[in-house]
Amino acid sequence: MFWADKIAQSSRQEELVNDSKTPSGRVHVGSVRGVIIHDVMYRALKRANKPVKFTYGVDDYDALDTVPYYLDQEKFTPYLGYPLCNVPSPNDKSSDYAKYFMEEFLEVFKYLGVKAEIYYLRDLYKSGKLNSYIDTFLQNAQAVREVYLSVSKAQRADNWYPFQVICENCGKIATTVTTDYNGSEVFYTCKEDATDWVKGCGHSGWVSPFDGNGKLPWKVEWVAKWDLVGVTMEMAGKDHSQKGGSRDVANAICRRVLDKKPPFHSPYEFILVNGTKMSSSKGVGSSAKDMADLLPPEILRFLMLKTQPKTVINFSPNYDNITRLFRDYDNLLNSYANLQKENENVELDKTLLPLFYAQLDEEIKPYYTFDISTLISLLQVPHLDLKREIKKRAEVDLTEYDWEKIDERINVAQKWLADYADEEEKLVIYFDKVPEVVSQLTQEQITYLAKLKDILSTVEKWEGEELQTALFTATKELGFSPAIAFPAVYYSFLGKDKGPKAGYLFSYLDKDFVLKRLTDVIN
Ligand SMILES: [Zn+2]
Repeated sequence: MFWADKIAQSSRQEELVNDSKTPSGRVHVGSVRGVIIHDVMYRALKRANKPVKFTYGVDDYDALDTVPYYLDQEKFTPYLGYPLCNVPSPNDKSSDYAKYFMEEFLEVFKYLGVKAEIYYLRDLYKSGKLNSYIDTFLQNAQAVREVYLSVSKAQRADNWYPFQVICENCGKIATTVTTDYNGSEVFYTCKEDATDWVKGCGHSGWVSPFDGNGKLPWKVEWVAKWDLVGVTMEMAGKDHSQKGGSRDVANAICRRVLDKKPPFHSPYEFILVNGTKMSSSKGVGSSAKDMADLLPPEILRFLMLKTQPKTVINFSPNYDNITRLFRDYDNLLNSYANLQKENENVELDKTLLPLFYAQLDEEIKPYYTFDISTLISLLQVPHLDLKREIKKRAEVDLTEYDWEKIDERINVAQKWLADYADEEEKLVIYFDKVPEVVSQLTQEQITYLAKLKDILSTVEKWEGEELQTALFTATKELGFSPAIAFPAVYYSFLGKDKGPKAGYLFSYLDKDFVLKRLTDVIN
């Protein structure tokens, strides 16, 4: 059974699935994994006819702890230590920093068809909804300290209270330490040495901890949020789920102070993206928005779903990964289409469910899956009538919907070529002249090209599969190894020793051109 359906099946109560995010900067594509995991749990519960809600909390009372490299350092450095909702927006459209980055991320939610109810922590604090929890945790400061010590081995001073005031003098929240509580006010100091990344101003005094004057430390805040919002299920990334980690601490506080069962939890793994080179050289990288700009929504959802939550996804948007992602998707979609021909109501098994949950609605609509790597190659062949070529290769009548999906893929291929492709990944065909490097071909390689030319001049269909067979036939007839023979082909057309499957490469080119080039090289 698919993991999300397993969770749905074991549910015995009304469920509230929750996830959250600190909007501290541009959101990495890794955060989309959490969003999709929770979204699919929600959808699996709905599909099983269980009562369920889906919420997403924005932790915008957290402090700005670093100024991202892509922002104006001079402008934002003075706001280090401020609650994110009190830092100005990088543009003049959003009301503040937290909203600015969250709005961008919410666009991605919309794009991916994720329909969670969004709430902001600033609203929960300022409206007083968290007041009773703040009082409870301050009253039970000793129990909180004990949990920190026993679960995470973190020693807190006897006069440490789980609360951070927004300093009335300098506006920072990261630098204040609370050391007393009299039932209506806390005593705090804005300490110069509270953190090693920002200095406090030294101010101290008594102030009410309620109605937005400060916040609970986030492990404690997590517990208050669970109870206030009514969360029954919340997964967490592996980083928070280690033994003695933040989730363990929050769970223990929930049991000890509130005497309640913490929400259902299971950790999920990261997405590793090797995107540094891209982000520095081309201004695009691996943010959630960048990936949403590159990939169609169901393909981006599928990337998150084709791998089990407990397995790391290694994904940098290079040629191999992008083409494999589409190929895996196409294989599933085509096997679904075949099953549908036999029986209108296809039974969705474990293999097909990632495809099902990748869709934005509750229906899988098969289409002609034009191969993305072919598109990437075709786009690089000059003077080619792309649409005509696609029509010819498809060999079936393409519907309007097929064309819609093909156009979507053309966009992906174009964008990938423009923003992500490495020079080695690009196909540069030497049309006008024979690459100089062919002067280094061995006699054996020349013999191979001559044999290949003879075979190619007799092939019936100038198509990838058949041409690929011709390339191998030539090696077999001569008893040559493809490892020695094939580079001769690539040298002759691309001026380098490797490229896409040579049979397919030929199929993009005119037959006369290929034969003439082989003749020129042989001579
Ligand atoms: Zn201060």
